[in-house]
Amino acid sequence: MTSPAMTSPTLSRRLFLAGSAVAIGLPAAPRVFAQAASPAPTGPFVLPQLGYAFNALEPHIDAMTMEVHSQRHHGAFIANLNNFAKDHGTLASTPIPKLLAEWQQLPEAIRMGAKNSLGGHANHAMFWQIMTPGGAKEPAGDLKAAIERDLGGLDKMKADFNGAGGRVFGSGWVFITVSKEGKLAIVSKPNQDTPLMDGQMVLFGNDVWEHAYYLKYQNRRAEYLANWWNVANWTKIAERYSAAKAGTLAL
Ligand code: MN
Repeated sequence: MTSPAMTSPTLSRRLFLAGSAVAIGLPAAPRVFAQAASPAPTGPFVLPQLGYAFNALEPHIDAMTMEVHSQRHHGAFIANLNNFAKDHGTLASTPIPKLLAEWQQLPEAIRMGAKNSLGGHANHAMFWQIMTPGGAKEPAGDLKAAIERDLGGLDKMKADFNGAGGRVFGSGWVFITVSKEGKLAIVSKPNQDTPLMDGQMVLFGNDVWEHAYYLKYQNRRAEYLANWWNVANWTKIAERYSAAKAGTLAL
């Protein structure tokens, strides 16, 4: 899904440093190298900012994983969507949850590609915002009450979520969905599918594609799933819970 056009200037500079400049003792990489990367195709779809540095989630998620994942993997979905939107303007003018809930009615020529890229964009846009450096204080109030009522409490929720994430065969995601009434459930999905495709709302989710953890954890997905809770942004998740019940949760 990546293309040369999506190469991150920062990543290029780092690879350049690792590959040559450092090895032969040169000073910092010249800026001209960073400018050599082609700019990403532009259009109505925009790659979201993380809101924290690539290395901010260490040691639980390493900086290289965050940079490649957010800039190249998510960036490829954005590039694909902007390409599709050139000939299919409704992609940009229709709310993403509606497009995903009705993906089978997407134009046939772009149906599967648009479904995958819309799902990938929605999943990752959610994912970046529900993580934060050092994590955040654990759930309180009505979110805590809902976790206890629907998922057996925080510890059981984590264990069941990790179990579901571990059982995803191949690539996919594990989610907590939330209804308008605030009811929670654990749902896993293959590929870049999302509960939005079932007309459901996502409270939060974790990416269990190998690209999300392989550089640091290799095949140890269970260890990644266990450590991931250290960066869960419960403040943001609580905001999403309130927004879901208010009918204002976007993605
Ligand atoms: Mn991913």
